[in-house]
Amino acid sequence: MLNGEKKIARPLRWAMIGGGRTGQVGYKHRIGALRDNTAYQLVAGAFDIDAERGIDFGVNLGVDANRCYPDYIKMFKEEAKREDGIEVVSIATPNGTHYEITKAALEAGLHVICEKPLFFTVAEGEEIKALAEKQGKIVGVTYGFSGNQLLLQMRAMIEQGKIGDIRVVDLQYTHGFSATEQGDKTNAAQKWRVDPKVAGPSFVLGDLSTHTYYMSELIMPNMKIKKLLCDRQSFVGSRAPLEDNAFVLMQYENGAVGRLWTSSINAGCMDGHRIRIVGSKASLEWWDSKPNELKFEVQGEPIQTLIRAMPYLDETCNADERLGALHQEGLTESWANIYLKFAIAIDAKNRGDEETLKNLVYPDINAGIEGIRWIEKCVRSADNGSVWVEYESKKPQLV
Ligand code: NAD
Repeated sequence: MLNGEKKIARPLRWAMIGGGRTGQVGYKHRIGALRDNTAYQLVAGAFDIDAERGIDFGVNLGVDANRCYPDYIKMFKEEAKREDGIEVVSIATPNGTHYEITKAALEAGLHVICEKPLFFTVAEGEEIKALAEKQGKIVGVTYGFSGNQLLLQMRAMIEQGKIGDIRVVDLQYTHGFSATEQGDKTNAAQKWRVDPKVAGPSFVLGDLSTHTYYMSELIMPNMKIKKLLCDRQSFVGSRAPLEDNAFVLMQYENGAVGRLWTSSINAGCMDGHRIRIVGSKASLEWWDSKPNELKFEVQGEPIQTLIRAMPYLDETCNADERLGALHQEGLTESWANIYLKFAIAIDAKNRGDEETLKNLVYPDINAGIEGIRWIEKCVRSADNGSVWVEYESKKPQLV
């Protein structure tokens, strides 16, 4: 169980790019990273595209005014001159900026934690992976739901054969908040999400389903997609070619099949984020809106609900427990678990500790690249008339 005691020798000197006063996701980074003050200290930032607002915001967060910068280029330059300069930077800006900022950060000798979807193309991902390797730096990806520790329970139970051979993978990440066009015009964060120049080649496939796809990889590290077929629609016509709804069928190399539904036009749905894995003996099902519970359904037996923090859970699951039984938790703990693993990875990389890196389960650059591949293949399938396309996964065998 985690209790805030240090996991690395000293906190990392951390800065943020984006995630400013009006940003949607920035605060999740801060509550994730700063939950344990033994992992990160927020010492600098270029928080906003509006320089003045960003500096004012940083000062209000308690960051030294001299280290609140008008832009990231100036921040990298000035921080490099300091003995106590930043070591790691988080990127919480719109998708179209991730590649350029990540590249500049690695070239400035910094570790990077970047938002999803990582970049626009797999080729960009591979280029940045090679650069990170050359620079000896970590690139982590904030698949923010993936720190929910019951996902590690699913992983352990599948590995232990508790559900038998996997037959069906049923994934869903839907909501109804973009059921109409209204937000595309009035909400700044929604406006760029439907602009291909900023969002990239997809809307909901990248915005929503890359999370769920990574979570399925985390739970089933040995399952590889062989082929997929995607059918995508823009029910709000002005969003075309970007989709606000998509169905994806998957065929896995071991003969299992899967489906994923992602949508932002599922009217009335407040949070439809669900993972169900069907095996030859039993099924496991987890909903993000009930993060404290995992359903274990053995054919012919009463359904069991496994509850977070209980001693009957796998040790890998309880190692990421923060509150203990009786007290309910959710997304903030998930983000804190991921940020702690990024810190452990960065510290291990700095010390050349490859053994720790090999055994650490967290969303690394490979997970980011697989997320881009997922979008690329879905878009290619959908835009060629919803045909099967080879998946060609390059993900390394996980531990
Ligand atoms: P947003 O539009 O609400 O906020 C973007 C922020 O970045 C703003 O503060 C803006 O001023 C700032 N910004 C933009 N360009 C900048 C630049 N060049 N330098 C410095 N700051 C800059 O967007 P959002 O919804 O917070 O999304 C940001 C990223 O986070 C996207 O990639 C999105 O896909 C991702 N996201 C992830 C999750 C998650 O659960 N991991 C949730 C929401 C969004």
